[in-house]
Amino acid sequence: MALNIAVDGPAGAGKSTIAKLVAKKKNIIYVDTGAMYRAIALYILRKGTDLNDSEAVSRDCKGANVTIGYDNGTQIVFLNGENVNAFLRTEEVGNTASKTSANPAVRAQIFNLQQQLAKENDCIMDGRDIGSVVLPGAKPKIYLTASSEVRAKRRFDELIEKGEKPDFDKIKEDIEKRDYQDMHREISPLVKAEDAVLVDSSDMTIDEVVEKICSLCE
Ligand code: C5P
Repeated sequence: MALNIAVDGPAGAGKSTIAKLVAKKKNIIYVDTGAMYRAIALYILRKGTDLNDSEAVSRDCKGANVTIGYDNGTQIVFLNGENVNAFLRTEEVGNTASKTSANPAVRAQIFNLQQQLAKENDCIMDGRDIGSVVLPGAKPKIYLTASSEVRAKRRFDELIEKGEKPDFDKIKEDIEKRDYQDMHREISPLVKAEDAVLVDSSDMTIDEVVEKICSLCE
């Protein structure tokens, strides 16, 4: 059976940074499921679908064929054959993904892809419902979190580094809004799976978190 490590947690907890490093260390692939939801959100945004019309979102998302490839260990997301990696990390796409991912048709669209990747590959997969729904048999499962203050500060610093002029309070407010949406939706809400290990990275370095996860794999 393939090694499947599940990492769930709220936005900005450092899941992708940590998961990429663990993947490298253990020579396994990193599966970023948030990027898959972002690709569908991008499709919906480009199509101009009304986000508040759930029937329209259910209908339109069926036109989004999301597939995954790897280039030197980096996950590439293809949307109907187009490499869309460059368009996925904006606030607009992230906030849209948080809304559209609450739609059952959107989740169904990429569920099989996620399970198939985990069946065929040793991997570390991150998201919101990996340990609880997508890979209930994953071992180990990690619930990675940090305070909203710390998560907002990390995002703030990232944007400063990119030369932008971010507003800390607005970032914190967006993070808290996304937490609420992700934790309170009806389908696949963000929860800590019963058998997941809680890791609060607020006062931990990246290396410490990576070490902790690697030690759970032994
Ligand atoms: O992790 P990331 O910020 O890229 O995810 C974008 C959005 O996709 C999240 O806010 C969440 O609503 C959704 N998502 C999800 N289930 C996952 C991964 C992401 O609902 N497994």
